[in-house]
Amino acid sequence: MSISTVVKAGLCCATLMGAGVAAAAPQQAPIVVQGAMSSEIDTLIKQLKDAKPMTIGKWQFWQGQLDGYPVIVSKTDIGMENASAATALAAATFHPVAIINQGTAGGHDPELHNYDIVIGKESINIGSFKTPFKARGEGTHADTWAPMDLLTEEEDTSDKIVDKPMRAFPADTGLLKAAHRAAEHYSRGKVVDGVIASSDVWNNELDRIALFHQQYGSSMEEMETAAAAQIARGFNIPFMGVRVITNNATNGSQFEPATSEASQLFTTDIVKAYIHQLKR
Ligand code: SAH
Repeated sequence: MSISTVVKAGLCCATLMGAGVAAAAPQQAPIVVQGAMSSEIDTLIKQLKDAKPMTIGKWQFWQGQLDGYPVIVSKTDIGMENASAATALAAATFHPVAIINQGTAGGHDPELHNYDIVIGKESINIGSFKTPFKARGEGTHADTWAPMDLLTEEEDTSDKIVDKPMRAFPADTGLLKAAHRAAEHYSRGKVVDGVIASSDVWNNELDRIALFHQQYGSSMEEMETAAAAQIARGFNIPFMGVRVITNNATNGSQFEPATSEASQLFTTDIVKAYIHQLKR
C-alpha cells in the first residue's frame, strides 16, 4: 500500500463519519518493532504471520501478526535521521500502542561481551554537545564538551533536567516488564538493564568511550535508539530500546554480525510477553 492509499483511506473514513455513518470497529493498535539493517529484521519478519510489505518514501514496513496480535516490523535504515523519519512515519501511519527499537551495538562497558543483551532503561544522544570557546590554535578537546539538550522548553516538562548532565529518554515501564520476563529465558549471554548511547558516530577511541561510560553511564553505543525514543516521546507512544552486543572495543570482542539474530529472537519474546500483558 502506498502513502497515497493510506491518506485516501483516512479521508474516506473521516468523510463517512462526518456524514453520520457508523465507523468500522476500531482495529487493535499494532506494536512496531524497528531494526536498521536487513540483517537486523530478517528473523523478525519470519516470525510474523501473513507479513505484508509496504513502503513509505524509502522506508519499508511489514505488517503481520504475532500470537494473533498485529505487529509491524520497520526497517529504519542506519543512523539518527533515518530512525527519526521511520519512527514519525510509523507513529502517524499506524498509531502503534508501543515501539521497540532493537539491533546490534558496540560495548562501552568492559563487562559486556558478544551476545550479551542490554535492555535500555534509558537512551541518550551522544552526538549532541556544545563546545566551550577556544581561540584559533587552542585545539579541540572533546572531554570539555557539555551535553546539549535537543528538546524545546515546551517539550521539557516533567523530567526537566537540572543537575543531570545528559538528557535521558526513559523506557516505558510496561515494556521493561515484558523485557524482564523475556530475560528469564535468554541463554546466549547475560541480560542487563543499561543505558543505550546513540549518535551518527562509530567510536573506537578508548578514552572517549571511557568518558561516555564514566560520565553518562553508557553501556553500549549504536546509531538509532535515542533518535527513535525522542520522536516516540513526541507522539506519547510507549518506547523501549533493546540491543545485543555485537562488538566491544573495550575488551577486544570482535565484530560478530550473527549476533543480530539473538536480538531479534529476544525481542520476539518481549513482544509476546507484552501482548500477553495487553490481553490481560
Ligand atoms: N555501512 C556502514 C556500516 C554501518 S554499521 C559502514 O560503511 O561502515 C552501523 C550499524 O550498526 C548502525 O545501525 C548501528 O546501530 C550499529 N552498530 C553496531 N555496533 C556499533 C558501534 N560500535 N558503534 C556504532 N554503531 C554500531
